Parts: sequence; C-alpha cells; structure tokens
Amino acid sequence: MPVDWVVVGLDNGGTTNNGTILDSSGRFLLDRMAEVPSDVREGPDKAIQSLVVSVEQVLWLTGVPITSVRAVGLDTPGPASGDGVISSKGATNFGHVGWRGFDIRGALAERLGLPVIYNNDGNSAALYAHHVRFGAESGQRSSVAAIVGTGLGGGIIEAGQVIKGAAGMAGELGHVPIPLDGLLDAGQPMPACNCGQSGDAESVASLTGIENNLLPYWLTKYEGHELSGLPIGKAAKLVRKYAEDGDEMALAIFRQQAIALGRLFTIAANFLDPDAYFLGGGVVEAAPHFRDWFFAEVRANTVLREEQARAAEISLVPDLDMAGARGSAVAARDWLIRQGREVKTAGFLSPGRRDDDDHGEAGRLIALVVVAVRAAGRKAGALAVADRVALAGDGQRQGA
Ligand SMILES: [Zn+2]
Repeated sequence: MPVDWVVVGLDNGGTTNNGTILDSSGRFLLDRMAEVPSDVREGPDKAIQSLVVSVEQVLWLTGVPITSVRAVGLDTPGPASGDGVISSKGATNFGHVGWRGFDIRGALAERLGLPVIYNNDGNSAALYAHHVRFGAESGQRSSVAAIVGTGLGGGIIEAGQVIKGAAGMAGELGHVPIPLDGLLDAGQPMPACNCGQSGDAESVASLTGIENNLLPYWLTKYEGHELSGLPIGKAAKLVRKYAEDGDEMALAIFRQQAIALGRLFTIAANFLDPDAYFLGGGVVEAAPHFRDWFFAEVRANTVLREEQARAAEISLVPDLDMAGARGSAVAARDWLIRQGREVKTAGFLSPGRRDDDDHGEAGRLIALVVVAVRAAGRKAGALAVADRVALAGDGQRQGA
C-alpha cells in the first residue's frame, strides 16, 4: 500500500532520542528502536539539532520522503508545561541553563516547519498502552497508567486522549498522597518525596523511593545484609535483582511498592473508574516469576467494587522501550485526524442547517480560530481568553 501521509514520533531522553514513524492507517513502519544521541546536556541548540537528526534517521530507515510527514509527536521528561515549555526551575534532564523556560515544542516546530504535538513521556507511554489495548475502540475508553522508574510517571487517558489539565499537571500520579496505614512497618519513618510531600505514591513506588526511603530503613532491620556495604545509590539499583533471587529484605521493599501502587489504583477507581489500569516500568522486564508475584500483589491491593472488577482490567504496559516514541506518534496522528474532522464538520454544518444557522456559524468560527492560533504560533492561553470574549459577545447578540 503506498504511503499517503505519515507522522513521526520522538521520545527525548537523557542520553538518547528514540524515533518511530506511523502511517495514516495507524501502522508503525518501524518495528525496533531507532536511536540517536540526544545531546540534551549540551543545551537546546544541540538537542534540537539531534531531534532533527532523529527525524531524518527514521525517514532514511523507512525510505519515506520528508514531504509525506504531516506532523511530529514529541515527548520529554518533565517538569514541563502541557505545551512543552521546560520548567523555569530546570529539570533533571535539562540541567543546562539554556533549558530554563525553553519552549522545546515550539523550537522544533520552527526548525522543521511542521506542527509538533507535545506530551510528557509518562503521558505518551500511557497513550500508547491505551491504543495497543483498545485499538479501534480507543476513543470510547479510559485508562490510567502508572510507570515505575527513577520516579513514578504515567498518565490518564479519557476517550482516547491524554488529560493534561488546566496547568498541564494532570495525571501526576506519583504525587498523589496515599494512605500509609498497614503499608509502613511499625517505627518506619515517613517516606519523603523530591516534590516536597511526604507519603505520596512516588515516595514509595520508585527507584528514588527505594534509595531515599525504603532501603535505608530496611537495612536497619537486616543488619549485615550484602547491600549494606555498598553506596546507597548503587545498592538501590540492585534491590530488584535480589528480589528476583528471593531475598527476604528485597521482597519486603517490593511488597511496600506493590501496596502503594494498589492504593493508587484504588484512588483512581473512585476518581475516574477507568476501563483499564496499566502498570509499567523496570519490573515488567524482570524475571517472570518475580514480575507475576509483584503484579499479583498490586492487584490484591487494588480495591475495586464488584461492578468495577467486572468492567475493568489491570495489565502491563507493552513494549516499554518504544512506548514513548510510539505514543508520541499516536498523539500526532490523533491530532491531525481531529483537525481534519473539525474543518470538515464546520464546512458541512454551516450551509446545510437552515433552521439552525447560529450553531453552524459558531462551529465554523471556532474552527477558524483554532487554525489561526496554531498558524500564528502565539501563546495559546492568551488567545483562548480573547476567543471566549468574542464568542460570549456573539451569544449575547444572538440572545437579544
Ligand atoms: Zn511527590
């Protein structure tokens, strides 16, 4: 089948960019990782150039011409705004001072001359998991994904789309406080998170949580443990290996993580009642016997009502290495399809419905405004306010 148009998906990480390509029919044209060095530590100039190289690489690998690319999906680690402006306070991967408050999405869009759709990496992976699981039904389903890594990332998908929130901070599952009764051992100190809170999900269910909170405590209970002789950062990374080998202390640590994740999903059940709960992270790639045990512990600690248990499922995030790039591509393709639909709907409505001209006009107006905002590349927030004023004025006139 000849390619009519494609989107490119890019996952920007601390050391590498991973790229993929998705065609208009929803088929990935690459079945493996396409990586280039990300150069993020050298600042925005070099890093944007590396993202361009990543686009060129996937086009070269698939033989697709650049003229077929309609949009690019991009994800990065946070914290960043919903539209891809890196936090002005900096971020773990974006230590170079040039990154502070830098609009990575806008810069790449300008460089490529193409629309760039931005998500944080947790949201992209969540979107990919959702689409893999629900396929053609994605637009009618909701899901929550928790991905355990250095931190606890993830995202919320409703009706097939990433929930970003008013400030771009929706779906920060790691910073949801969880009940600690029965999770912490008697006398165990309250776990602290880098975000400043105590006892949130990430303070327990993350590598950072192991290093800062769980391992230092559990080593006091298992004096003389092999891991006690190592620097804490190194020891924390080895805990999973010990758990796979059945080490009692390591299993106690992972049991606490599983309880935390189950309680997080329980909160999600009452807040969102999603169709699916996805679990991802290093533990998914662990030895099967340990992965199955951990997964069972998470399930056992997820309290669903009977109706919810019948309607929903808890499962693992697939292809995690590629989930970011692939989710970014899905986001770009969905965006393009929505744009097409809005323009078509508006064009169709305005002339056709004689008895309802005002609604048709309003629909057309909204579509035109959306296109104008993106084309002008101005700050979305500022224009949204202006739009609302104009539309409200319209409504009053119609009502009078
Ligand atoms: Zn936190």
